Parts: sequence; C-alpha cells; structure tokens
Amino acid sequence: IYPWVYVARFAEEWTEEYVEKPHKSPAEEAELDEAHRDELLAKRNSFPDLPLVNYTTQYGMGCFEGMKAFPQKDGRLKLFRPDQNAARFYRSMKGLMMPPFPQERFVEASRQVVARNKKLGFAPDYDSAWERDDFTSGESIYLRPFSYSEPAIGLGIAKHPFVVIVSTPVGSYFAPGSSKAVVSEKVRAFPGGTGWIKCDSNYVVPILEKKAAEAAGYMETVFLDAVEHRYVEEGSSCNIFFLLKNDTLVTPALGNTILPGITRSSILKIASEMLGVKTEERKISIDEAMEDAKECFVSGTAAGLSHLESITMKDKTARFGNGEMGELSRSLLKTLKGIQYGKIEDRFGWMV
Ligand code: PMP
Repeated sequence: IYPWVYVARFAEEWTEEYVEKPHKSPAEEAELDEAHRDELLAKRNSFPDLPLVNYTTQYGMGCFEGMKAFPQKDGRLKLFRPDQNAARFYRSMKGLMMPPFPQERFVEASRQVVARNKKLGFAPDYDSAWERDDFTSGESIYLRPFSYSEPAIGLGIAKHPFVVIVSTPVGSYFAPGSSKAVVSEKVRAFPGGTGWIKCDSNYVVPILEKKAAEAAGYMETVFLDAVEHRYVEEGSSCNIFFLLKNDTLVTPALGNTILPGITRSSILKIASEMLGVKTEERKISIDEAMEDAKECFVSGTAAGLSHLESITMKDKTARFGNGEMGELSRSLLKTLKGIQYGKIEDRFGWMV
C-alpha cells in the first residue's frame, strides 16, 4: 500500500491532478484472488509513470514545506497550524518568482492527503504516540508539500511548476541520547540571500555540515551570521532558543537570513501567554549564549523541541545546566505536545 499523493500544476491557472493510485485497504486486498492481486500489482508498478518524475532541475529553483498531523484520542488526526505552512509556502514560491499556490487550496489539499491516507491505514496509534513520558515516540503523520520547476537548459524561473504533497508516518526525528551541538564555521544564509524562505538551495551547506557534525559525535550544527560570524542564527533545519540565567527566553530575531519557524512562533506564544515567561527576539552572540544560558533547545516540525546539552565552538564547550533537559524546556515541550495531541485545550485555535 502506498500513500495517496496530491499533485497540482500551473498552466494558465492551478489545476489539480489528484493521483488516484490504484490501491485497496489491507482487508480488501486480503480478499483478492491471485489473478486480481497480480493485476493490482501491475497497475501499481506502472504508477511512477507520472510526468512529475521526469521533471528535475539543475538550478535549485524549488521550495518545500514540512508539517504534521497528530493522532487524537477520538481517533481523528489533526494538522498543526497548516495555514502557517500555507502562508510560508506562498512566500517561498513568490520568493522564487513562481506563481504562488493559493493558501486555502494548500490547506484543503493537506486535509485531503491526511484523510485519504488515514483511510488507507496510515494513521499512527494514539496511545503509543502519547503515552511515553519522555515523548521520544512522537508518532505522527509528516506532510511534505513541495514545488519545483519544469526542466530547462537555460537559467530561468519556473513558469509551470508542480505542487506535490506527499506524506509518511514518522516517529522521533533526533535519536534519543545524543544532544550535543557544534558551531559551524560555514555559512547557511547571508544578507540579501534566501535564508528567509524554505527553498531547496538553503539546505546544501547545512546537510553537509550536519553530516560532518554527526561523524564527530554531535547531534546538531549551529550556524552563526555570515558577516561577523558572531551572532547565533539557527540550526541546520531548526530554530534555536536559550533560557538565560536571568530567566529570559531568548531566540534570535528574524531578519532575512533566518527561517521563520512555525514551532518557533508557537513556543514564543506558549512561553509568554501560557507559562508567563519573559521572551525576547533579539540578536544574541554565541559568546553571550555560551556564558549566560542555563537551558538551550532547538525547535522545528520534525524536531519538535529538542534540548541541547552543550554547544562546542572550536576548543570551548558550554554545558547547559546539568546536561539534562531543563525545567522550562520540558514544560514547553509538554505544553506544545499537549496541544498537538489534544491533551491540553487548543486555546489559540491551532489544530485543524
Ligand atoms: N529553520 C530551518 C532552516 C528549517 O528548515 C526549519 C524546518 N522547517 C525550521 C527552522 C523550523 O521551522 P518549523 O518550526 O516551521 O518546522
């Protein structure tokens, strides 16, 4: 059984090409006789014969999103703030001079992907998703909407892009156990560049750096600003927070080099409006963070909220607190997950 995929393409306007992949539920399939099963398999094998697999680009003119749907106690699945992903996807496409994908359609298509795939059996189990106290299971449905240009030899913008939404059940992103980070000497984004949108080309350096960091025993890479190499920006695919010794929760202010994370903005809201914590979005130097922070964590759809026990820069390592996940980090994680899994009232109307 393969998940159902959403496809739309822009010609004169956006046209939906839902992919009706031939599949049946496991129960229906069990009832098929040999001959019919062969027929179904043959159809399935011809499935990748889609126009989209013939399309690729050499110039990185693509963008994407990442969002999740969470299992609820009543058996439903709920998306977390899909309107925000729709808005960011719209900005990314505009940033790449693509015809932007209508935001309401994005939300509706995402609902379709979740609902149809739930019918096919792609729904995580609520109990295993939530019941573990350390939240290491984190079962949910991950959605990956993406867009990319038609093929061309010359440099050009995408005039007739596709929008595709695929999904997959997922567990925890970071392997439990490792929570050390290292500061990268390379640059993820620069003023006047594309760091503020979620486009393909932003991920080359972070992926290479993360790979190198993992080989050296770290979980994550922290990027500094490109000009002075002094201020903290973000992780390889997540935003970063520091709880300072004066109990202020600080995250780097957004400019045009940092991706505005939806988890980031949600955490800021939970911290200030639900937990009564003082928050600041401002420049924070790596020196200040390493000297003054008592808790540190990264945030993102895939990562959720993952604490960092330490950050290393060259030959210096700062360890936060006793290296375990701090009190505020834990409360923030519990509240965020609580809202996502329907254990805590969704007072901001985030769940769809
Ligand atoms: N920064 C980068 C570079 C990312 O790729 C992501 C993941 N989308 C984030 C931050 C976190 O964003 P969000 O909370 O919306 O997942």
